[in-house]
Amino acid sequence: MILSSTAGHKQSLYRKVKLLNQVRLLRVQLCHMKNMFKTCRLAKELLDSFDTVPGHLTEDLHLYSLNDLTATRKGELGPRLAELTRAGAAHVERCMLCQAKGFICEFCQNEDDIIFPFELHKCRTCEECKACYHKACFKSGSCPRCERLQARREALARQSLESYLSDYEEEPAEALALKAAVLEAT
Ligand SMILES: [Zn+2]
Ligand SMILES: [Zn+2]
Ligand SMILES: [Zn+2]
Repeated sequence: MILSSTAGHKQSLYRKVKLLNQVRLLRVQLCHMKNMFKTCRLAKELLDSFDTVPGHLTEDLHLYSLNDLTATRKGELGPRLAELTRAGAAHVERCMLCQAKGFICEFCQNEDDIIFPFELHKCRTCEECKACYHKACFKSGSCPRCERLQARREALARQSLESYLSDYEEEPAEALALKAAVLEAT
């Protein structure tokens, strides 16, 4: 008796976790989509339909209201969010403006496969720079775009250090003359 009720409890807990996880993933997708649609003038109606669910669901991903939890448990929130992601994906598929915001995976450079951050099943977004790659390609853990940005930053730092040092090595007399001129002017 006790055993079976524990098993039943475990099962319901498992179901709750599963539903919550489903909702969490849908919210991540909707959040990526919303960011795209904010800058698409053809997605106004779609954005309005996104706003039929409370704003925090698609913006503040860590926030769950008591209502959200209840609706999740009842199995109501998941299907509703899933419907919005389907509408969103359908828009992206046929919208030229949104297609232009897609990524080409830098690892495999497959230009025939434009990828989008909301495609969680096949893509991974770099948390640092938000570039998007195929999950299967992005295995090394280091993002090529971040590496490029880092190299550029280092080159710039080197450059400014070099120019600083070369300024310093210039004729001291010249520097003194400059200083005098500045003092005279003030
Ligand atoms: Zn669009
Ligand atoms: Zn790839
Ligand atoms: Zn990156």
